[in-house]
Amino acid sequence: MSPINAGLSRLSFSTQNDGEIQPVDDPGLTKRKKNKRVKSTKSGKSVAVCSGPCKTESAVPPEHGRAVKDIRLQSRPVAPSRVKFPHLSEMPRYTTKLIDIGVNLLGYGTSAFPDFTSVVDQAADSGVSDIVIIGSTIPVSKQAQILVDSWPNSGPEEITGAAAAPARCSLHFMAGCHPCRASDFAPDGGRQALRDVIMAARQQPCIAIGECGLDYKDLSSAADVQREVFREHLELAVELQKPLFLHERGAHTDFVDLLSPYIPRLPSAESACIHCFTGNWEQLQTYLDLGCSIGITGWIAGSRKSSLIAALRTAGWERLRDRLMIESDAPALLPKYIMPKKAESQDEKNVPANLPYVCCALAWILGVDGEEVAKATTDNARRIFLQQTQ
Ligand SMILES: [Zn+2]
Repeated sequence: MSPINAGLSRLSFSTQNDGEIQPVDDPGLTKRKKNKRVKSTKSGKSVAVCSGPCKTESAVPPEHGRAVKDIRLQSRPVAPSRVKFPHLSEMPRYTTKLIDIGVNLLGYGTSAFPDFTSVVDQAADSGVSDIVIIGSTIPVSKQAQILVDSWPNSGPEEITGAAAAPARCSLHFMAGCHPCRASDFAPDGGRQALRDVIMAARQQPCIAIGECGLDYKDLSSAADVQREVFREHLELAVELQKPLFLHERGAHTDFVDLLSPYIPRLPSAESACIHCFTGNWEQLQTYLDLGCSIGITGWIAGSRKSSLIAALRTAGWERLRDRLMIESDAPALLPKYIMPKKAESQDEKNVPANLPYVCCALAWILGVDGEEVAKATTDNARRIFLQQTQ
């Protein structure tokens, strides 16, 4: 493992040897090689192109070539986006129990795991002590609330399903409506319906509002409807002083504009969790500056190269330690490139039992010990989401 975390802000990197990371003591080297370059377009304009992960383009008139140079000097070097994961022969094991802060255990309106008790049991075998069920719609949130209230760890009530003994893995729930299902959220009664689900909890409280947010890459619910429903969730989080489990895809600017004014009114800034963060360094920096926490899924090991990998390395472990949590987002987002026997597993449905792979991939990318990542992410999840249950 390359010792890349220490002094990351001072160092830049070279990516020779197929992604092997070598700290370079000359920040200017990476700037000169990797940042802005200029290309000409048919219109005759020169365009400053960032060859880093953000892929942003800004039009620069040809006569202002000097301005491009100034931008280059001001921009921070972005760390390598490529990773060569270790070859694991078996699942990593950690002394610290892991908390999966986001599982679509009850699906997105249809059942994702018909035999979910065995899925939970398998997660416990992998060292996952707690699973938070995502509320993708109001009916799913209601199902999750009922399940969690009757789950062994939740209280003395009779246990449903196959789990007759005290569970080795606790279940928790959140309540919300995914932006892609925003059109199912009644504008005149949705917030009250959501409030009813949350207030119906008896043995275990609803630990967050979500998932909610904006998804402009799937406009099965129109963008203006998504924004309206997102506002309803934000208002409810402030009213009930609940953390937020937030989804953003292809809508960063609108999302930040809507969320920012609510941050000071939440229980804490970190209680706004950007779930399944897959963005670039600029976006990560915006969220960190707002004080948000960040959920990391198997997406980081869903490819060997991504702007997310570069963003996390650029931020560095010291800055991220108190902000990161891990989630499977199962059944999606199998962390396939760090799993053994990936050929067989590529088409498999993801399960919470794969969470140790997410922890391992995160540690590998950041160049820190896996146990340290396990402990920090568990501490963060307990502090931000689960302290309401204690
Ligand atoms: Zn999501």
